[in-house]
Amino acid sequence: MARKPIIVGNWKMNKNNAETKAFFEKVDAVAASENATYGIGCPFTDLRTAVDNAKNLIVAAENCHWIDSGAYTGEVSVPMLEEIGLKYCIIGHSERRQMFGDTDETVNKKAKRLIEAGITPILCIGETEAQYDAGETEKVIRDQLTGSIADLCPKCVGNMVIAYEPIWAIGTGKSATKDDAQKCCAIVRDQVRVMYGDEAAENVRVQYGGSVKPGNIVEYMACPDIDGALIGGASLKEDSFIEIIEKTK
Ligand code: PGA
Repeated sequence: MARKPIIVGNWKMNKNNAETKAFFEKVDAVAASENATYGIGCPFTDLRTAVDNAKNLIVAAENCHWIDSGAYTGEVSVPMLEEIGLKYCIIGHSERRQMFGDTDETVNKKAKRLIEAGITPILCIGETEAQYDAGETEKVIRDQLTGSIADLCPKCVGNMVIAYEPIWAIGTGKSATKDDAQKCCAIVRDQVRVMYGDEAAENVRVQYGGSVKPGNIVEYMACPDIDGALIGGASLKEDSFIEIIEKTK
């Protein structure tokens, strides 16, 4: 079965409720497509507004905790996301790994809890510029996946989304070449194959992320192992996200 492409915006710490409502009012109708899934990851405070205004766009949280409740000041649990009808959650974004202490181990716990709740993890991995320069990209990808998707079922992994995002390409305007992006997304798929077999590898959707914009989305989407994109900056403006949707649906 062919993999359905999935293109998700990642707003990071941007937009309030009024801006969220305005964005969804403009973009949601454009996102109706049989051929691809489009969505937005937004701050916790915007999730309810996003869900209430989304008929076509899928809505993702940008993080979660793996424990259901308790003394974890500032955290949001998976049942809390479940309660507002969320179906996707970004985990392990490099900004969380670099600034907030997320590790392969905690990302793995988050993935497990999300899968248990029927929420699809969008799991991010990717190498730093120093690792890229040192030729360590493949090792980093395989190592991060080995930890982040450990002890899951093959079917669960097949249903996941994995975003390959080289850190040096995030928010820098310095996107990976389509050949590099394809090569790395193929490594992601191969590592899934090594760990969980052919079916999981054929089903898992692999996104490229890092300075994706209307001008380069089509060439990434034409690559055989790239099934979508995780898009930061270019997802913030209605017009550029609409352009991305129109070029890919
Ligand atoms: P960018 O961010 O598109 O602004 O490079 C991508 C991301 O952080 O997911």
